[in-house]
Amino acid sequence: MKNIALLGATGSIGTNTVDVVMAYPELFKIVSLTFHSNSEKGAELIERLKPRYVGVGSEKIKAELTDRFPDIEFGVGAEGLVGAAIYEAVDVVLTAITGSVGLLPTMAAIEVGKDIALANKETLVMAGKWVMEAAEKNNVNILPVDSEHSAIFQCLEGQKVDNLKELVITASGGSFRDLTRDELKTVTLEQALNHPNWSMGKKITIDSSTMMNKGLEVIEAHWLFGTDYDKIKVVLHKESIVHSMIALKDGAYLAQMGPSDMREPIQYALTYPDRLPIKNELAFDLTQIGQLNFEPMDFNRFPMLDLAFTVGKKGGAYPTVYNAANEIAATSFIDGKISYLQIEQFVQRAVDHYQETTEVTLSEVIEIDKQTRTIVERWIKEEGRL
Ligand code: NAD
Ligand code: MG
Repeated sequence: MKNIALLGATGSIGTNTVDVVMAYPELFKIVSLTFHSNSEKGAELIERLKPRYVGVGSEKIKAELTDRFPDIEFGVGAEGLVGAAIYEAVDVVLTAITGSVGLLPTMAAIEVGKDIALANKETLVMAGKWVMEAAEKNNVNILPVDSEHSAIFQCLEGQKVDNLKELVITASGGSFRDLTRDELKTVTLEQALNHPNWSMGKKITIDSSTMMNKGLEVIEAHWLFGTDYDKIKVVLHKESIVHSMIALKDGAYLAQMGPSDMREPIQYALTYPDRLPIKNELAFDLTQIGQLNFEPMDFNRFPMLDLAFTVGKKGGAYPTVYNAANEIAATSFIDGKISYLQIEQFVQRAVDHYQETTEVTLSEVIEIDKQTRTIVERWIKEEGRL
């Protein structure tokens, strides 16, 4: 029996994780979970999963649910996230929350020796150096849930590090892949949320369309696999069938393929190194798909991908700034406060504004994350469209 802490149980990855767990109740148990604000869905999950510890977003939700579930221990805000992550019985923490708010519980879990099944890529972008160092020190596995990284992880199995030539991350292109930059000026939130291949949370769907998501994934791959940025390539692959590839020095390419179904990488992160049949398997027939296409990424069309390599190579807190500015800008677009192209403008401006002169510590990185949010929020207040 594997005991799981599920951070962000009400979201898209959270829901897929619950499906995986419920398919094998004799193997998996969610002993702690968190959710932020959807107390109706949260209460439903508590009924179904019977966790022992629940982290929620507000005192109000805690009061409401304590009346209903008196036997469960509740925690609020950051304390609730950490409480769920380090809950004693937990073996593995699945980080399915959005944003760098995931850093604190992830670090806390690593420090007490819990394995991490990592969906929350923003954490690794913000503080990859410290997360990976802590994982190594505490002998903790970081198992990728992001489909591209799960694919690379699977391809790398049994390979010697020396044999690797490069990682090839595939990108679907997001909702606006066929639009020109000029056409992007007038796009709406509704159009941006209409992803061609994947059904996901709002923020990651916006990030896919701006190619911020791929940028975050490049930095995530750098930390997860210890690969230099000049050995990480991105190709446009509209079908999202090849989830990513590795190229080996003798010219061989290994690719991992499958349907667009997040249950597969989630389940593999929980069963690794074993595999289990997936329940309610999605249809997958290459003869029906017929063709797979690969195209070069246009860095002028997708400047946020170009910027990811720039901030990644600069290192320090540059990726922190890139991520924090985007978290504020993407959320502000979702909230109708800025236009679509302003997302990129604010991210670029935050990165240009930031000057790093000395090596940064983790506590400085946390401070820089906060400062960036404040600055970008101020810019948006002063200059946002609405
Ligand atoms: P989502 O918006 O559907 O769900 C987010 C979850 O986080 C919810 O349970 C919500 O309650 C919780 N949450 C939100 N803000 C919070 C806060 N401030 N404090 C505590 N909890 C908070 O998001 P998602 O699509 O499931 O994505 C979750 C993470 O997984 C993201 O980092 C995303 O990049 C990554 N990811 C998602 C997918 C996917 O298919 N959805 C694929 C790969 C990686
Ligand atoms: Mg991905």
